Amino acid sequence: MSNLTRRNVIRLGTAASLATLARVSAAEDAGKKTGIALLGLGNYATTQLAPALKNGRNARLAGIVTGSPDKVPVWQKQYGIPDANVYNYTNFDTIADNKDIDIVYVVTPTALHPEFAIRALKAGKHLICEKPMAPTVEDCTRMIRAAEENKRTLQIGYRLHWDPFHLRLMDAMKEKQFGPWPAIDASDGGRMNDFSGYHAWRVNKELGIAGALYDLGVYAVQAQLYSSQELPIRVTARSWTERKEIFNQVPEHWEWELEFEGGRKAKGFASYGKSVNYIRVETAKGRIQIEPSYGYGGQNGSTPDGPMDFQHVPQQQLQIEGQVDAILSGKPSRVPGEMGRRDIRVIRGIMAAAESGKAHEFGNFE
Ligand code: NAD
Repeated sequence: MSNLTRRNVIRLGTAASLATLARVSAAEDAGKKTGIALLGLGNYATTQLAPALKNGRNARLAGIVTGSPDKVPVWQKQYGIPDANVYNYTNFDTIADNKDIDIVYVVTPTALHPEFAIRALKAGKHLICEKPMAPTVEDCTRMIRAAEENKRTLQIGYRLHWDPFHLRLMDAMKEKQFGPWPAIDASDGGRMNDFSGYHAWRVNKELGIAGALYDLGVYAVQAQLYSSQELPIRVTARSWTERKEIFNQVPEHWEWELEFEGGRKAKGFASYGKSVNYIRVETAKGRIQIEPSYGYGGQNGSTPDGPMDFQHVPQQQLQIEGQVDAILSGKPSRVPGEMGRRDIRVIRGIMAAAESGKAHEFGNFE
């Protein structure tokens, strides 16, 4: 694929046309906030998404879908959710009849994203899916198809597309403000010792697929791609494990190198054994860097012009508001399903390269 075509594909991926998709019914009901149901009331939904919805400009927490009956009264009381808007995983498809809920936000372990996403889309709801989108590229395609067939939007919970530090990086690279890039380095890892309780699925192959590569590596892949503004040609990779008693299904550490046209390289690293958290982009005029980079507790960054001077923002709130805006306006999402699928394609390429010990060629991304 030519350089130009590769760049176009990146643009297409970020701007998949949603213009023809149906608007949410809430749009017609001016002044009413769009109703969102959270599906999977685990740690992220409880500590980040539900609180973010409390302050939402255009969205509100209208319903819940859970397999844990004990959570229901707690959530109902805290967020004033009526009985009619409470679902379990068995009766969830009847959400189709609920006019109070326009969007389902899937926040379960990765392997369960496709099933729940497709059921929600078939029920006529718009869908926000947490990262990483799904286990395989084929799963992503099934989800995208379900959105198309039901004329609904499918967006990924990539909150950093609303973070000012990352937006600054994206703009700088899109506009080549500091010239071309010869090298990129992105790492996301956190030393975790306890995988009991709600963390267990992360090191389970069936639910977490490839451990840190999926959970954290997706941020490094994202940063590599919005820094490069191109699609990679091939990847080499390796994975290894030090604490074999914990990591007996998925590797503890992953390392990869994406190769782009002209032989330029983007190094990547993801790990549950080492705490690292940065994106560094070398440009003709110096380095653009964000460190820490991927969390929601605050970023630090600089460009060749000096420090990035931004306030910390509530990423999840801005993300959901932006995603609702995209649905209401019919304008392209910043984070469409196609982007999620592109990233899973890269991640599967990293896995294939680590497995074979040889370079994995990406071929055509479309
Ligand atoms: P969690 O384990 O705390 O929550 C998962 C939820 O899914 C729980 O409520 C659990 O009961 C439910 N669930 C349903 N079926 C299940 C099954 N068969 N096995 C296990 N759990 C099941 O995990 P989490 O940290 O909240 O992560 C959930 C999703 O959110 C993941 O996709 C994760 O990658 C994503 N996440 C995103 C961010 C972010 O910053 N965007 C941060 C954390 C997690």
